[in-house]
Amino acid sequence: KEKTLAIIKPDGVNGNYVDVIKKTILGSSFSITQEMQLQLNVNTVKSFYAEHASKSFFSGLVQYMTSGPVVIMVLEKENAIADWRALIGPTDANIAKVTHPKSVRAFCGLDLQRNCVHGSDSPQSAAREISFFFEKSSSA
Ligand code: ATP
Repeated sequence: KEKTLAIIKPDGVNGNYVDVIKKTILGSSFSITQEMQLQLNVNTVKSFYAEHASKSFFSGLVQYMTSGPVVIMVLEKENAIADWRALIGPTDANIAKVTHPKSVRAFCGLDLQRNCVHGSDSPQSAAREISFFFEKSSSA
């Protein structure tokens, strides 16, 4: 079976969406094989999102992702990477509300930045992101 990394971002945890998101995950045939709640620090977020370092939204993204605790999970099922991306919907929660009203971002996201969840976008990212948080004691 395939694994992907899911993050419930600070707006999701702060808005009390953890239980409903986990129910959605389990009700969509994923297993949650690892899970932890933690407060990310600036260096961890900068390293996790290194591919976005040159983007105009990067400093806002770092501020947002360090604004409160996150819940980080490894999800497992056949086709987990694409299926979790489909379940969460488009990056911009305001667009998700219109085009994918049943998606996770439609019900818990706020806008383009505060979109309440993350999902790995490829097998390469999933492998990197899972080892970033769960298989290296020094990174989180
Ligand atoms: P994620 O990687 O978190 O699952 P994604 O693949 O849909 O989301 P990316 O393009 O990788 O989106 O951007 C990473 C995160 O940066 C987004 O989830 C969002 O929180 C934030 N972000 C992306 N684009 C913008 C933007 N134009 N303005 C503000 N924040 C943004």
